[in-house]
Amino acid sequence: MARVTDPPEAEELAETARTFMDEVVIPEERAHAGGTGVSEGTIRKLRAAARDYGIYAPQIGEEWGGMGLDFRTVLPTFEEAGRSLLGAPAMRVDAPDEGNMHTIELAGTELQKEQYLRPLVEGEIRSGFSMTEPGPGAGSDPKMIRTTAEKDGDEWVIDGHKWWTTQGLEADVLLVFARTDQDVHPYEGCSMFLVPADAPGVDVVRNIPHLGGGGRTGHAEIKYENVRVPEEHLLGGEGDGFKLTQQRLGPARLTHCMRYSGMAMRSLGIAKAYISDREAFGSPLAEKQALRHRIADAEMRVHAARTMVRNAAELIAAGDEARVEVAMSKVFTANVVGEAVDLAVQCCGGNGIARDLPLADFYESVRPFRIVDGADEVHRRSIARAAFEDVPMDELEPVVRYGD
Ligand SMILES: Cc1cc2nc3c(=O)[nH]c(=O)nc-3n(C[C@H](O)[C@H](O)[C@H](O)COP(=O)(O)OP(=O)(O)OC[C@H]3O[C@@H](n4cnc5c(N)ncnc54)[C@H](O)[C@@H]3O)c2cc1C
Repeated sequence: MARVTDPPEAEELAETARTFMDEVVIPEERAHAGGTGVSEGTIRKLRAAARDYGIYAPQIGEEWGGMGLDFRTVLPTFEEAGRSLLGAPAMRVDAPDEGNMHTIELAGTELQKEQYLRPLVEGEIRSGFSMTEPGPGAGSDPKMIRTTAEKDGDEWVIDGHKWWTTQGLEADVLLVFARTDQDVHPYEGCSMFLVPADAPGVDVVRNIPHLGGGGRTGHAEIKYENVRVPEEHLLGGEGDGFKLTQQRLGPARLTHCMRYSGMAMRSLGIAKAYISDREAFGSPLAEKQALRHRIADAEMRVHAARTMVRNAAELIAAGDEARVEVAMSKVFTANVVGEAVDLAVQCCGGNGIARDLPLADFYESVRPFRIVDGADEVHRRSIARAAFEDVPMDELEPVVRYGD
């Protein structure tokens, strides 16, 4: 396996995470045939074990119940967590709570952090991030936001229709993205609110049936009708919605990449073990050049993805937004991991789609990654814009043909 380099503290933490995954999480996954539908009791048990191993909520500040480690240090631990669908919830590095905790830690008041961040870290409550809308509203283009929040005395009144709010049905608190000023560009006229899920007017219409459904976390369609929240429930400043979203989504896209890289590595590991053991046409399948080259390609591409993610994470840890590097990592990793899991399914034959192995769940889990947090095309659009606009045309080398 190609090696990547991580700081010593990061390697040490990842080693602990790997031991925890091997000794606790993967046996639990096997006991529950993949673990997609495990009870909250099982998750609580895994979290208690993660605390015992010293690997719980490493990304959150110590004062809020985490381990206070920076983004770069936790990177390989997030990869380890991704080796099983139970790893991230066990270590409390699971989406969408992980991104929401990050946002509240970044922009919340002390009161908001006490009310929501602390119990989120503890695992006592769950959260959703409500941005995407049906119909002509916000989707790939979030500027098209139609949900509004209007000030009425010392309250905000929220009206809108959202869907694809992950964990919306189970959430205790929803981070709702709404337009607060119609007279300025949406980038300056949107804000984020902390909305208790039991506030009058919050109507969870349904969980959207989807590929890979049946897990502990669904994706909800939610109507917000005349929902009133006190002004203290504004998260960050008024008009800071897009800035906050960018601060949430940049790192959240990378943490998705980290977890999915772990999924790719485990999938390839299972595939290599299977084809080394299984024989056909006079020799182990692992000796067939047709498979060996495909495994080699997958290893190269996963290595490249992990290296790109480290580069983007280092920029973010140094205070840069790293928009282009995050976009590149996101598109590349989503495709590379999808291909790696698909290859692992193919290598394992019928067993690849059997629910006896984690590969079938992985296969269903990874496909949405090319859409969620910005579809491939949307990130390519940003990458292309930077490619064309970052260097002024008059600074590009002119096209001079030999002989001209
Ligand atoms: C599993 C899952 C979980 C999600 N969780 C959340 C959540 O917690 N909170 C939340 O707010 N949202 C969530 N989403 C929504 C997600 O962010 C959106 O699905 C995504 O941003 C794409 O928006 P859309 O579905 O509206 O696609 P649309 O905007 O309808 O676009 C459809 C397709 O058009 C193509 N396209 C778009 N723009 C361009 C372009 N410029 N050029 C060429 N092609 C283009 C892309 O292929 C895209 O997939 C989730 C989605 C999924 C699938």
